[in-house]
Amino acid sequence: MLDVSWAVRWVRLTAEAVGLAKAELTELDRRIGDGDHGENLDRGYRAVVERLDALDPEPENVGDVLKLVATTLMSKVGGASGPLYGTAYLRAAKATAVPSLDASAVVALVEGALDGVTARGKAVPGEKTMVDAWQAAADAAAAAAHEGASAEEVLRRASTAATAGAASTTSMVATKGRASYLGDRSAGSADPGATSTALILDAAVRAVG
Ligand code: ADP
Ligand code: MG
Ligand code: MG
Repeated sequence: MLDVSWAVRWVRLTAEAVGLAKAELTELDRRIGDGDHGENLDRGYRAVVERLDALDPEPENVGDVLKLVATTLMSKVGGASGPLYGTAYLRAAKATAVPSLDASAVVALVEGALDGVTARGKAVPGEKTMVDAWQAAADAAAAAAHEGASAEEVLRRASTAATAGAASTTSMVATKGRASYLGDRSAGSADPGATSTALILDAAVRAVG
């Protein structure tokens, strides 16, 4: 069930995954950016876990958990990814003000996150940003729900698509964010933010009880 306990497990597993992938994310960002994406996110999610640990009682809605992530990332993560992920979680939170998610709520969560990132960063698919992972996830989630998939299955399909979307950024030339300064030389390495988006959605699947 995709309830509040799931949301809390999701956030904790994300923090763990970001901690483990910190060096890899930073290396990706070193190649096409300024080499701080792993540190930025690790700092943010550590603060998120601290605030989760201090929460008592557990929130009533999934969206309350995502809102805590949003506000913490916005205040703790410098750089482009803080406000981008902050806005993503904030829109996702607004779409999930319920105790547990059905298939259409999972679609709303992922589409909300995508809307947040695009509202904030104005990137479109193909520009080698996290939008490439979120857009793939949102499309796959909508298609799965349309086919009558369960909430958990919608989430799995979104996560698989995000991983493919992140991989697809490798051959792209960046036209948004810091990596765009490199022009053609930005091709050949995956986008750090798209890679962390795939990690976040993979953690959501692993958090399913
Ligand atoms: P900074 O670039 O400020 O150092 P980070 O390294 O934490 O911030 O995050 C970089 C990531 O942010 C990129 O890999 C990309 O996915 C994402 N990003 C940057 N600008 C945009 C944008 N305008 N729209 C969407 N995503 C963006
Ligand atoms: Mg960076
Ligand atoms: Mg930076």
